[in-house]
Amino acid sequence: MSHFADILGLLDPNNKISEFTVRSGAGTTFPALTFKAVKGMTRLAVLDIQPDVNKTPDDFDRSRIYQWFKLRFPNGQEGWVRGHVVGISGDFTQWGYGVIPTPTHAFTFARDANKRPQVVVQTGDTTVTVTPETVKVETPATTVTVTTPPTPTTTAPPSVTTPPTPTITTSPPVTTPPTTTAPPPVTPPTPTPPTTPVTTRNIAYDRSRLYPVPMDKYVFVRGYQGPNGHDGVDYGGADGEPMFAGPLGGLVVRVMDCKNCVPDRPSTLMHGFSLGDTRIFNDPNWAFGYGHFVIVRYTHDQLPSATQNTLASLGFGGWHIYAMYAHLKYRSVNANQTLTANQQIGANGNTGNSTGPHLHLELRASANPTFPGWSQIRSGLIDPLMMFLR
Ligand SMILES: [Zn+2]
Repeated sequence: MSHFADILGLLDPNNKISEFTVRSGAGTTFPALTFKAVKGMTRLAVLDIQPDVNKTPDDFDRSRIYQWFKLRFPNGQEGWVRGHVVGISGDFTQWGYGVIPTPTHAFTFARDANKRPQVVVQTGDTTVTVTPETVKVETPATTVTVTTPPTPTTTAPPSVTTPPTPTITTSPPVTTPPTTTAPPPVTPPTPTPPTTPVTTRNIAYDRSRLYPVPMDKYVFVRGYQGPNGHDGVDYGGADGEPMFAGPLGGLVVRVMDCKNCVPDRPSTLMHGFSLGDTRIFNDPNWAFGYGHFVIVRYTHDQLPSATQNTLASLGFGGWHIYAMYAHLKYRSVNANQTLTANQQIGANGNTGNSTGPHLHLELRASANPTFPGWSQIRSGLIDPLMMFLR
């Protein structure tokens, strides 16, 4: 399998910079070359990948160091570009990444920087195919190899066969529809397309602990950056992996189906949009970029004790939390439905503004136990890791 780099540009869809400096080495202290990396360049050969020589921390994850990519450009010349504008796709296991099905910003992946191939031959003309593989996940202290996760504790017979290990992919930061004044319209409670038997998982739980991750098999992909960055957390998982509500039940306050997210082309990228195209965020037919989604209300008394304390420290004492589960393959619940503990609400998917199957989990706090509308509670945006395990 081959691998390529694309110049994707900056992740922020509102940033219009389209040309980026190419340097003679892996750091900003190296001289700039006379040509630029231009957004839209595709299928560039990757010659080498090195961590930033100055150990400059990644803006995305301050615990990591930027990676630089030595690329061959259309003019035949070679040079180094920092990973914040580089998309990678294909088999990057030899570089300490995983197999990446669609071009995704390199900085959204942790890399095992100890890996360096002996020889790199890249012709740039081979079709990329995807095979599930082990993916390295790097944490600040140690490097953890995520292999096949443990058997799920699902009680119902499994109806979805899951590939051994998900390939990590991430989504861009899905921002709230910027200019919409009305909340996403309420979808009539009609049955969704493919539904599976409702499964639950058996998790002993008391409120002294945080909520479990909504999927049994997952890889933590991206953290929360606040209202001006990535406004939720992303958990990568296999397409179709069951998605579970919280361990104390909840109430579905809103669901939305993405009309354009057809099964064979669920994501906006598959329809020719670039990642983070602002048109998507205003388009209800794309469910404002979220794809199929479900919003669940967890009342204050259903929250972990630590979460209640954190809310109080933020000035949100006694408030409730509304949790959006986005980019679902499908949903298996309807609006106004009361959920039992750990009830399945849908399945992991790649719908909307997404580059691969993952859950975008976004939390907003509100004093109002009656759902005021998603955009109305934007100011209550909080880090999901104050409530959910990583
Ligand atoms: Zn996300």
